[in-house]
Amino acid sequence: MNIVLMGLPGAGKGTQADKIVEKYAIPHISTGDMFRAAIKEGTELGLQAKAFMDQGALVPDEVTIGIVRERLSQPDCEKGFLLDGFPRTVPQAEALDSILEELGRPVEHTINVQVEKEELIARLSGRRICKTCGTSYHLVFNPPKVDGICDKDGGELYTRADDNPETVTNRLEVNMNQAQPLLDFYKAKGVLTNINGQQEISKVFADLDALLQGSRS
Ligand code: ADP
Ligand code: ADP
Repeated sequence: MNIVLMGLPGAGKGTQADKIVEKYAIPHISTGDMFRAAIKEGTELGLQAKAFMDQGALVPDEVTIGIVRERLSQPDCEKGFLLDGFPRTVPQAEALDSILEELGRPVEHTINVQVEKEELIARLSGRRICKTCGTSYHLVFNPPKVDGICDKDGGELYTRADDNPETVTNRLEVNMNQAQPLLDFYKAKGVLTNINGQQEISKVFADLDALLQGSRS
């Protein structure tokens, strides 16, 4: 099962992606997670990405496309993959088409998770992330069982550097400007499915799962 999951920052991509990859046993490929891991490790890629991420800007297409190309070529993607947060621009979508054509692994589901701006701001402002495994929580909408601690592995929860109020607004604007042409690109191909992301987490997952089950042979 090859899936592309799109949506603005805070739409719930990471939250839903975790559930999908667990159920369907496919790798979760999140460009945001890959950049954060590179920053933590202090690699060249991390250094390149950090300056953009800190401002809420997008990392340049050539850098982002390069890491996705490499990741999709790994053998574990043969059984399927879930791309989370890529593509975010039309050039990334075009590059993805040609990468997958080369690899002979076409996308079966191109999904956009829709949530309104006010709700996105509320979600990003209260988001907390596990330092160890990257799981997302929310102070109010999806709190951990024990304050400040990850339910899954006991890791400490932190606030992402780009989830501060100044960066959030810029990030939403930057992403909204890129999102419409991207959605138009997929709409024109007739492959886009919209999912209502402004429902309870379990209901969003039920809708996504119904869509994915529909394609199961
Ligand atoms: P994205 O990966 O799209 O940026 P996340 O999955 O990290 O989004 O979710 C953003 C924030 O919103 C997190 O704090 C998460 O716990 C919370 N969240 C995710 N889905 C929902 C939902 N359906 N309703 C309310 N809050 C949600
Ligand atoms: P969110 O969806 O919550 O903004 P991500 O974790 O997906 O967060 O991304 C964090 C940051 O990483 C983005 O603001 C951007 O700087 C960078 N990034 C992630 N994916 C991409 C992408 N496909 N293209 C360009 N930059 C990206």
